[in-house]
Amino acid sequence: MLERFLDKTSFSSQEDFMKNFKVKVPDCFNFGYDVVDEWARIAPEKKALLWTNDQGKRIDFTFADIKRESDKTASYFQSLGIGHGDMVMLILKRRYEFWFSIIALHKLGAVCIPATHLLTEKDIVYRCNAADIKMIVSCGDGIVVEHINRARPSSPSLQRCISIGPIIPEGWDDFHKGIESAAPFVRPESVNTNDDISLLYFTSGTTGEPKMVAHDFTYPLGHIITGSFWHNLHEDSLHLTLADTGWGKAVWGKLYGQWFAGANVFVYDFEKFKPADVLEMIHNFHITSFCAPPTVFRFLIREDLTKYDISSLKYCTIAGEALNPKVYEEWLRLTGIKLMEGFGQTETTLTIATYPWVEPKPGSMGIRNPQYDIDLLTADGRSAEDGEQGQIVIRTDHGKPLGLFKEYYRDPQKTYEAYHDGIYYTGDVAWRDEDGYFWFVGRADDVIKSSGYRIGPFEVESALMTHPAVVECAVTGVPDEIRGQVVKATIVLSAAYKDKAGEALVKEIQDHVKKVTAPYKYPRVIEFVEELPKTISGKIRRVEIRDKDKV
Ligand code: ATP
Ligand code: MG
Repeated sequence: MLERFLDKTSFSSQEDFMKNFKVKVPDCFNFGYDVVDEWARIAPEKKALLWTNDQGKRIDFTFADIKRESDKTASYFQSLGIGHGDMVMLILKRRYEFWFSIIALHKLGAVCIPATHLLTEKDIVYRCNAADIKMIVSCGDGIVVEHINRARPSSPSLQRCISIGPIIPEGWDDFHKGIESAAPFVRPESVNTNDDISLLYFTSGTTGEPKMVAHDFTYPLGHIITGSFWHNLHEDSLHLTLADTGWGKAVWGKLYGQWFAGANVFVYDFEKFKPADVLEMIHNFHITSFCAPPTVFRFLIREDLTKYDISSLKYCTIAGEALNPKVYEEWLRLTGIKLMEGFGQTETTLTIATYPWVEPKPGSMGIRNPQYDIDLLTADGRSAEDGEQGQIVIRTDHGKPLGLFKEYYRDPQKTYEAYHDGIYYTGDVAWRDEDGYFWFVGRADDVIKSSGYRIGPFEVESALMTHPAVVECAVTGVPDEIRGQVVKATIVLSAAYKDKAGEALVKEIQDHVKKVTAPYKYPRVIEFVEELPKTISGKIRRVEIRDKDKV
């Protein structure tokens, strides 16, 4: 499959990769026809999706199955009047109907808007009106159904709600009945151009209200690197990325790049999740490759790994937040596996990463992706020197790179703020070493300015993590009359230290940080908490701590 899209499909060094990696972009590319249906044609029995749930059910889908089911779904949606450019929201958690539906929507040239089941009535009204959503496909149980029902009267564009079961609420249509009685699917004459919008994703909402990111039909091609050269997948791989289908990370790890590589995607559908479940899944299903955000690994390294046989696991990747070196070292000690970090956003595909031929440097995100012209810009607008901090930007003077978003949907102001004059600003600050490795400092808004110093929260957090009392922490600036801001650490204590919270432990942790990093960075304020404020996808919301400290 890769040969259809790449001139060269294997690489031995970064130099080779930077020079020879090139994607051939077909006209009117459509992931549904050009990848899913193509696999179904050349290798129909090839495994595509291993779906299992917390009730012990298991279903294996081949590419022929995915083609058949997505065709049936496309035909059904078509009969409901869904076609090119129509907006359809999917609230499907980790149900396999998500894969049928997103591929079906691609095949129709419609726009897929994946969303989380944690949306409230207000969120649903906002989204329906912001994007003129015509149809919602959702799980039929849970509180989300009530929220959708209550949102309907204030969402005039919303014509239909479809339930995949187990309950079909009153006034809703039955997905499974619909697809079983659908006429044979006939591909529309013209489906899409490469420029049309295929996908609208909401960002994680780590810094504020989630933004609506619009991607075009070529976006999946930007993920060839994600699957084949970051997750390091091949046709025998069984890959698990932990992500709800409502977040951008799901198509990073559960769809596009994985199916370009011909890997089998592992899906565990659950109601309540414990990190240890992952170990059981690896043990039971022989998962070979695993990707999760740092927060998951921070808890996994505290589990008793000897209870599980995880010898099938060969490769682990990590992204979404900065990875503390301590977690890298612990995972390596426990499993012998090096965590291969990557960096990117809902607005992009992977932009910086540690590829199989790159030796990771713990604490660094890795090096450039050849698809993106990455630079670091200093506050005064210069390209940063090696060792100097700057905002990560993507230069687009030679055209929009594959994988970079089109716009924030219907928000030209926000789009302009982030993306103008040939430069896309990520809002993240990093520095680069002489070997070309990028080191994350913090989100531009999270960088602390204290007595003339600029202090990145990540470095202080990583120093704190090396103290045995600290399970997780968030470093923020609190307003201070003399220094402008002072460094504050909000800390979750490990079980052994829970009852030691007090002045003596504060002092001990402060002294520890002064020893492992430059002393001016030590947290003058420390607060112990039971848990940190996080987004639904598990990212620390420093902004919430900051806001609380302002009042
Ligand atoms: P919002 O934009 O709504 O505040 P968000 O930025 O968290 O939310 P995402 O698009 O899911 O939404 O996340 C992208 C961000 O995650 C990046 O801009 C960066 O701050 C952070 N990130 C991703 N990978 C890494 C990494 N390896 N190291 C540090 N930070 C990372
Ligand atoms: Mg963001």
